[in-house]
Parts: sequence; structure tokens; C-alpha cells
Amino acid sequence: MAERSVPFRDKAIETAPRPEIEKIQTAALRTQIAQALKTPFYRPRLEEAGLSSPDEIRSLADLSRIPFTSKGDLREAYPFGLLAVPKDQVVRVHASSGTTGTPTVIYLTQKDLDLASDTMARCLTAAGATSGDVVQNMMTYGLFTGGLCFHYGAELLGAMVIPTSAGNTLRQLKFMKDFGTTMVHATPSYLLHLHQAIADEGYSRGDLRLRMAVTGAEPHSEELRLKIQDKLGIEVYNCYGMSEMNGPGVAFECVHRAGMHVWEDRYIAEILDPDTLLPVPEGEIGELVLTILCRDAMPLLRYRTRDLTRFIPEPCACGRTHRRIARFTGRTDDMLIINGVNVFPSQIEEVLLRTKGVGANYFIIVDKDGVLDKLTVQVEITPEMFADDSRVINALRERLKSELQALITINPVLEIKQPGSLPVSEGKAKRVSDLRPKE
Ligand code: AMP
Ligand code: ZN
Repeated sequence: MAERSVPFRDKAIETAPRPEIEKIQTAALRTQIAQALKTPFYRPRLEEAGLSSPDEIRSLADLSRIPFTSKGDLREAYPFGLLAVPKDQVVRVHASSGTTGTPTVIYLTQKDLDLASDTMARCLTAAGATSGDVVQNMMTYGLFTGGLCFHYGAELLGAMVIPTSAGNTLRQLKFMKDFGTTMVHATPSYLLHLHQAIADEGYSRGDLRLRMAVTGAEPHSEELRLKIQDKLGIEVYNCYGMSEMNGPGVAFECVHRAGMHVWEDRYIAEILDPDTLLPVPEGEIGELVLTILCRDAMPLLRYRTRDLTRFIPEPCACGRTHRRIARFTGRTDDMLIINGVNVFPSQIEEVLLRTKGVGANYFIIVDKDGVLDKLTVQVEITPEMFADDSRVINALRERLKSELQALITINPVLEIKQPGSLPVSEGKAKRVSDLRPKE
């Protein structure tokens, strides 16, 4: 690895000394506060915290005076409570994957979009991608940022981008072969599925030109990365992001693949104890809290990601000064990520409990079906419904299935259970069992 040259998109920024990064962050934070003060959501909150002017931010230490923002706040502010520019300046809207009734949306101006694309292009360059690459994006296009925001970054890099979107594996393989795809963007589970399909369809390594993959959207272990690299004979780069922060590319691995650099000129990252909300000692695990510094349309200050990680204190061999974060070890809430889609158990509960004939007890099982995730929902029905004929029960099953699919975009297996057959837990109900191996 020592021989390998380290590519940069913006070397001066990417290797800037810490005091310079902090200077950039402080100035940008002031701008973000100015934007936030224009929004109905933040203005009263900031004023209450004594931050009625951006000049209150004198150094980064003043960050701790800023109140936190949560996913619930985003829902509360839906649709325009966080808009800081005139509506006609917004050119794009995105939302979190698999959202509930009230989605968490973001809005971007053209400048915001250009910066987001630039960040993504910076990530891809750091991983060694170039304009010569043929990039096949297997993430879902639409509201989810993994499709379009990645796409724009790869285009800005000058790569040839094939927007195949998710699924339809046989077509994916055909495009990979016919266009000589060199890089794919997909979830880790889909990469495994792809490997299986390559074998099943009788493709040989010589048929494909694949050399690297960018993966993210769901937690995965180093062992899984090594497995995918080995099976496909490619390099696999971890990419972290979330819709709230402009999607993929908030943090990304360089060619050393040893933790993800957070782009600190564009985000302020804090790692806090989720209970005390104070910083954990450097290098210890805590909740990642992010402040976006590169968005005019929608400021987001000290956003509680709920994702658990730690800073890697040692400097990286690539020379970048932007700190690295380690793989995520989990979340502080009960959000499940199923085939890359965010699902809260409460969303499932909402559908079940509003449906006539459904009893009070249900159970959610997440497991693997081959390499992909499988969601099973077991639901007790009422004694009256149970006494009804099987056609009525089947109709209920189909209705629940399609309502759940519409809400969470995943096709679940639905098992109807007779009243009283599911275990009743003592104390706090345990309604979710995640049986996926912790790879
Ligand atoms: P979304 O807003 O739909 O893009 O979902 C964002 C969430 O996906 C994050 O808050 C993380 O929980 C998860 N996520 C994204 N990228 C990764 C990654 N590389 N490793 C682990 N989890 C990830
Ligand atoms: Zn590095």
C-alpha cells in the first residue's frame, strides 16, 4: 500500500492543518447560524439559547451552546419549517429511506446541490476512482439520496454513470458486462447477492471489468467487507451518509481503507455520550452528532444521528487531516435497516393496530433469506376474526402485506396467528427479533 499514490480532489483543503480546518468551521458555522435564524423552526430555539446573532459564535467552543436537533424535529417542521431561502431557490427535495407518515425531507438550492456533488466527487477521488471509470449505481433512485446524490457526484467526477437503480439483477449483470462497468455502488447485502448471481449465471471473471465497489446505507463488519472483496476480487470502500446530511459521502474511506474521513470543512462531527450529551473521551464510542456546513436552503445544527461510532485518533497514512470515524457499532434507537431501507417498528405497529380484526400482540422477525434481509411480521388476530372463514383471513393477510409494503417499501412475509399464541412478555414488550448474523 505504501507504493500507492494518494489521489486528491482538493489537496489543500483535504490536508489543511487543524487550526485552518477549525477556522473554516467557525466561519461556516456562523453562516449556518445566520441561515438557521431565517427559519421558523430554529429562530425561537436559537434566541432562547442566547444566539440571536451569528456573531455570538466566536470560536468552535460556542458549538456547545447550540441546541440539538432530532429526527422528530424534522417531522415537526415538515414541510417547510426548516427552509432558509425563498422557495423558488429550491431545486431539489429528498427524503430519508422508508419514512413514516411524515417524512424527514431536505431541500437544496443549486449551490447546495453543486457542493453535495463536489463532496461525493471528492470521496470517489479519495478512493481512487477517476473519469475513466464506468460507474453502475445500484441504489434506488427517487427520494432516497443513495441514487441521485451519488449519481451527480460520479458525473461531476467525469465518470460514465449507468443509473440502473436497485434490483433486476440479470439486467445489472448484462450492463456490467456490455459496458465494462468498473465500479458499482450498492448495499453490502446486494453485493453478496450480485456475487451469487454472477456465479449462477455462469459469468467468469474475464467477462467483467469490475475493480471496486462503494458500499453503505446499512451497518456491516470488516469481515463482511473482506469476504466481498475476496469473492468478487475487487476493492470495497465504506461510505457513510444520511439523507438529512445530503446523502452518501459525509464520511468516506481513502485508498487505505482504514476508517472513514469525515469531510470536516463541510460537516462538524461530535461524538457524544448519548445520555449526558457531553463529548466522550477521544477514541471512545458515542453518538455521532453532525452539523452541516455546506447548505443554504436547510441548516441542520447538532443533528443527533443516533449512529454509534468513535473517532480514530491516529493520523491516516494518506496525509488527510480530516478525522476518521470507525465502522458503526449500532444505533441508540430501535431503527432497523432492512436491505438498506430504514424501518421503525412503530411504523409496522401503526399499520397493524389501525386494522380491524388484528389483535394486540405482534412480533417482528428480521432474518436472512440467502444474502438478502427478510422481514417477517407475525400478527395475532381477534377471536371473532379467527372464527371467520379462511377467505376473510387471507384477505386480511393480503391487505396487511400491501399496506406494509406501501409504507416501508419492503415486501414482508405475513404470518397470521391465532389469538393468544404469541408470547406475552413481562414488563417492556419485546416485539422485535433481529436474527441476522452480526457480520
Ligand atoms: P438514509 O437517511 O435513508 O440514507 O439512512 C441513513 C442511515 O443509514 C444512517 O443514519 C445509518 O444508520 C445508516 N448508514 C448509512 N451508511 C452507513 C454505513 N456505511 N455503515 C453503517 N450504517 C450506515
Ligand atoms: Zn486516509
